Amino acid sequence: MIEVKEINEKKLDENYQFRIYLKNKADEKTLDKQFKELHNKYFKNLDCSKCRNCCKILGISMNEYELNEICKYYKLNKEKLKKELKESYGEYVASPCPFLNKDNSCQINECLPASCKEYPYTNQDERLFSLLTTVQNSGICPVVYNILEDLKKMYSFKKKF
Ligand code: SF4
Ligand code: SF4
Repeated sequence: MIEVKEINEKKLDENYQFRIYLKNKADEKTLDKQFKELHNKYFKNLDCSKCRNCCKILGISMNEYELNEICKYYKLNKEKLKKELKESYGEYVASPCPFLNKDNSCQINECLPASCKEYPYTNQDERLFSLLTTVQNSGICPVVYNILEDLKKMYSFKKKF
């Protein structure tokens, strides 16, 4: 697994080119299957607490229902917690996540919002239509980076310039 700091601008440019390549060449269902297999391969034995880039860079995003559930489960003061969060498009957000401990453990591990459970979304359907987010995530999540590198080999992709 590579360190995310190795993902430089040049590599991101290449990944944006690969996005266009996939848009033109890839079959939707085949690509979903390939993403799922690679997702499972990389997450199988991965300990995310050794990384936590998503928690530090993207932070947390939860809706009102999830906020209520977290406060209920952990007996937190909702109004106090809300002061640590911003409201954005109907979600409560904060970056870095206020629930991330210094030792990289998560304070609300038993009651995570969907965005935490689902990130980086690489096992979800319709990958062909989410390639922009996927490329952006390749600069944050080492799993996404590695999935794209494997796909480049599978599709014999070469960077143009
Ligand atoms: S709630 Fe936990 S998993 Fe979600 S962003 Fe915060 S620290 Fe990460
Ligand atoms: S960035 Fe990816 S590998 Fe790192 S903690 Fe988040 S999901 Fe796990």
